[in-house]
Amino acid sequence: MTLVSKVTQVARKMAGRSGPRLLSVKDAWRLTPNMIRVVFAGPELAGFPEGREGGNCKLMIPDINEAKESFAARLQNGPTPVRRTYTVRQFVAETQELTIDFVAHGDEGPASRWATQAKPGDFLGFAGPSAPKVTQFIADWYLVAADPSAIPVAAVALEAMPRDAKGVAIFEVTSPGDRQDIKIPAGIDVHWLIQPDPHQPSTAQEDLIRSLDWPQGRVQTCIAGESGVIRSLRGFLANEKHIPREDTYISGYWKIGLVEDDHQKAKRDGNA
Ligand SMILES: Cc1cc2nc3c(=O)[nH]c(=O)nc-3n(C[C@H](O)[C@H](O)[C@H](O)COP(=O)(O)OP(=O)(O)OC[C@H]3O[C@@H](n4cnc5c(N)ncnc54)[C@H](O)[C@@H]3O)c2cc1C
Repeated sequence: MTLVSKVTQVARKMAGRSGPRLLSVKDAWRLTPNMIRVVFAGPELAGFPEGREGGNCKLMIPDINEAKESFAARLQNGPTPVRRTYTVRQFVAETQELTIDFVAHGDEGPASRWATQAKPGDFLGFAGPSAPKVTQFIADWYLVAADPSAIPVAAVALEAMPRDAKGVAIFEVTSPGDRQDIKIPAGIDVHWLIQPDPHQPSTAQEDLIRSLDWPQGRVQTCIAGESGVIRSLRGFLANEKHIPREDTYISGYWKIGLVEDDHQKAKRDGNA
């Protein structure tokens, strides 16, 4: 065991947990053609913190056909399973049910593959959650933009906004059937853009954002998705619109052609 993992283990014990949670699937279904909703339930969710919708978490993915006992042992003692970052879409304390929405982008990614096959009784490891990404809604005008990977964080933000909020929400999804029902304030103009091949770079969100009549007053953003799109939008918001950093949640969630570990490394190196 490395020093870092030893320190992590001691910190978890002090916080009353001895390691990641081993979550069990209660139900899983296609929310839309390219999005899978998984609801986890069971005693492992005891003590799960409330109010973390929109926060992110690390999911540890079992190998194909891995037995629950050997995966549970691996969560405690290593070797560390594949880890992927996801968003808490909902947690209901009364029923202790946790919802996470997975983009179904094929079998190449371990997390996407796991979700595509998920059924009641399946399991994975869970660490987190972090604090939510957008907690204060103090703007005159909101700009929300998301591809499918960021619909969970965007939906949580839109649902938490004051009901008299004004602004624009842009969702770029794979097919018309991928539109979701989200409780969006009436003063937010909603645009659903269709991009059938998410592996092709797209400028559709940026083109639309650049065409907007930019409002007077304070602007807050909740924007996430493919890193190339995000990089370009980040530059636009900072350099052309001069939105202060503290009002700007903008984050690359994945990158065309890179698995998550390589994408995270590219981000750390300033290349994504
Ligand atoms: C803070 C944060 C929160 C996130 N929340 C969510 C969430 O709630 N739901 C969600 O679905 N994703 C979310 N993501 C994105 C998710 O972590 C990545 O999509 C991750 O790469 C998926 O892992 P994988 O094992 O399926 O694919 P990987 O093994 O990482 O990648 C395999 C291949 O699939 C491609 N790929 C990865 N993601 C996508 C995608 N979305 N669409 C098309 N191709 C893709 C990669 O470029 C690569 O070529 C979040 C990311 C971050 C940083």
